Amino acid sequence: MQFRAVKGTFDVLPDEVGRWQRLEQAFRSTVELHGYSEIRTPVIELMDLFVRSVGETTEMVEKQMFTFPRSDEVIALRPEGTAGVARAYVGHSVNAREPVTRWYYIGPMFRAEQPQRGRYRQFHQAGCEIYGDAGPHSDAEMIDMLVGFLGSLGIRQVRVLVNCLGGAGTRERYRQALEAHFRPRAEQLSEHAKKRLDDNPLRILDSKNPKDIEASAGAPSILDLLEPADKAHWDGLRAALDALGTPYEVSPTLVRGLDYYTRTLFEIQGASGELGSQNALLGGGRYDRMVKELGGPEVPAIGFAMGLERLLLAMPEEAPVSKPLVFVAPLGERARVEALKLGRELRNAGIRVEVDARGNSMKSLLRRSDALGARVALVLGDSEIDQGTVQLKDLVQHSQAAVPRAELLGRVQSALGAEPPASGESR
Ligand code: AMP
Repeated sequence: MQFRAVKGTFDVLPDEVGRWQRLEQAFRSTVELHGYSEIRTPVIELMDLFVRSVGETTEMVEKQMFTFPRSDEVIALRPEGTAGVARAYVGHSVNAREPVTRWYYIGPMFRAEQPQRGRYRQFHQAGCEIYGDAGPHSDAEMIDMLVGFLGSLGIRQVRVLVNCLGGAGTRERYRQALEAHFRPRAEQLSEHAKKRLDDNPLRILDSKNPKDIEASAGAPSILDLLEPADKAHWDGLRAALDALGTPYEVSPTLVRGLDYYTRTLFEIQGASGELGSQNALLGGGRYDRMVKELGGPEVPAIGFAMGLERLLLAMPEEAPVSKPLVFVAPLGERARVEALKLGRELRNAGIRVEVDARGNSMKSLLRRSDALGARVALVLGDSEIDQGTVQLKDLVQHSQAAVPRAELLGRVQSALGAEPPASGESR
């Protein structure tokens, strides 16, 4: 019986993994330059953590979580990263140690969605969180960092949408205004939106259903209802983005699917055709109430998460760069162990080496070294061992020479382009 991968999941094969590694590395170096340190939290958490923080009436919690009972607890595969990171922040009393904390994470997330291009059941997010800075300058810095990061990946055609959801007071005013707008149109709404009218009318703005989109036309804008402190934050954010020259568009209908956001909300969309309808590259916002909700002190926070699969779809293809390969081809029994030693010696000098000690013929070994795209093949049999030499085949120059063992490292290095070991690194 042959098994298939679970619906909505995929393997990353070695010939694709280089792009993943480059993306992850680029992310790490950008965010580390901005003062973030990595945190790794478990992929399983108590389900209630997400109910509490992400929100009971959100699509993610209502429909998309993979959960399972264990003893008397219900466990969930994490559908997103912020809640677990905030749980760790509270649980380790990090606020008592430092006034501002900047953390980042990279890892798999799980949502039972209908899979399509750019939408999977196991996908990967990289994200950052800042605790202890009420903004709005940290908000602007984060958005500006992201625009710069995407540009460095070659993703330059982006739309940066920003909105302000205000705090509890503004939200309540807006909820009432939305209810007043939608109530007379209730019959026009989708079944799902009708339910939301009672418990979470904001969510209707997020609906992709054409009926709900139509009923949302002319809905009041939250930006007209901001309380003074929220308005000051919003004005501060825009002033900082303007001063930084970060491009953005004000989008009063941007809601995003999670309940925990307060004040600043943003989303960056890609224009690449590769993305199709899944064009949201990343989303984020402020969640000033979550730390308190999770049993911690009152600490403001902001964060974002971006989908690595979508970034890979949006990134221009580049030629794969990997270190040049040396292929070691032993002929005969004695040469096999000698070849392993030779491989070890060259690797100690930072050279990438593949030893093929299966015991194949010269012809088949050379065919294999061609297939691997090796720059140099080193052939050794009984006579080379007796003479203390190795046959060095330069597969680019198409030359061959018997090289004494003592000179081999230097000759291999010069055949590989006379680079000192470290500069051959692809990353
Ligand atoms: P969210 O956590 O829903 O705010 O999403 C943040 C980002 O994660 C999105 O902009 C996507 O890039 C990515 N993302 C969310 N859900 C999925 C999914 N099911 N498959 C792939 N990427 C996703």
